[in-house]
Amino acid sequence: MISFNIHARLPNGRGRAGTITTPHGKIETPAFIPVATKATIKALTPEMLRDYVGAHAILANTYHLYLQPGTNVLKKSGGLHKFMNWSGPTYTDSGGFQAFSLGAAYGKNVSKLAQVKEGITIDHDEDASIRLAQVDDDGVTFKSVIDGSTHRFTPEISIDIQHTIGADMIFAFDECVSPQESYERQKTAVERTYIWAKRCLIHHNKIKTQNSNLKSPALLGIIQGGRHEDLRKYSAKVIGSMDFEGFGIGGSFDKDDIGTAVGWVCDELPEGKPRHLLGIGDPIDLILGIENGIDTFDCVAPTRIARNGGAYIRTGRINLLNAQFIQDFTPLDPECDCYTCKNYARAYIAHLFRAKEMLAATLTSIHNLYFVVNLVKKARQAIIDGNYEGFKKKHLPK
Ligand SMILES: [Zn+2]
Repeated sequence: MISFNIHARLPNGRGRAGTITTPHGKIETPAFIPVATKATIKALTPEMLRDYVGAHAILANTYHLYLQPGTNVLKKSGGLHKFMNWSGPTYTDSGGFQAFSLGAAYGKNVSKLAQVKEGITIDHDEDASIRLAQVDDDGVTFKSVIDGSTHRFTPEISIDIQHTIGADMIFAFDECVSPQESYERQKTAVERTYIWAKRCLIHHNKIKTQNSNLKSPALLGIIQGGRHEDLRKYSAKVIGSMDFEGFGIGGSFDKDDIGTAVGWVCDELPEGKPRHLLGIGDPIDLILGIENGIDTFDCVAPTRIARNGGAYIRTGRINLLNAQFIQDFTPLDPECDCYTCKNYARAYIAHLFRAKEMLAATLTSIHNLYFVVNLVKKARQAIIDGNYEGFKKKHLPK
């Protein structure tokens, strides 16, 4: 169970600063939630995440933990917090996004979400041995990204798995389609997400009743609808009226749409419950999300970019593999006061990348996560201080 309090608002009525209280501590919002896909933030210990990054919470992926190590191991370990030695608040996603996207992409270099077909099994053009994820009214059948074995998620199965993993906040199982899909296809996904949301709530409440002595996670509903205003508003209205403890906004966004689509949704959602924007972490998108009413974000981008040699700076990003950094003895970001920037130079980290040393990923991930976590913390402070425009002027990448 969670509670949510709002302390301050932006003059536009949408953006807000608040606190989510969970059984494992508080999340001061807006907050960026680092992604611990397989119950680890890649290249970081939980202590680094707490002490060097200053993150309040993590989000783990149901799809990945279900396939590996499996729910049995998670159950025997005592749940996600004990298993990964993270004592702060946790989320799991529903597994839907990965079942649709990775299932479709297994063994193929296809763009995520591009190849999911409705109701029927379709072999990929030239290779009949590889089948795509199939969605029907009851759930999705997909191939494991690890070994190609076949699995099925339904709303009830996703909720069961998430209860076993044991995060503080879990998400309803939704259908996620590419924004490139037709309006009709998006509409079907919105309706299906609504029906699945009802099934998730019923099943979640049933488990809670059966295990009344155990702490139950908070269930968050998911809004879909692509870039269509009517679908987004409809989805937000129906999901927002249901008995969820918070909400997630799903689906891919085009860069230009993020502020508008998030605004449509947040205007329809109830004020007093937290709102999470799934899979968004680009600094500009975070700022647009915050001012349009988002409380929390998660995204793999900061750590993924770090492992590939990319470091955030206020004006954008640098690539440490470029020759210009070999003899550059300044910090990754001269304006940053993170552990990495206080102690290491670009030249050293560039050397680690070229030498393929693991520490390269660790030091750069600490910086990138600190960068986004603190950008959002500064936005929070600016909302409280009534100085959001000043914050934006200073921090919006030029
Ligand atoms: Zn730094």
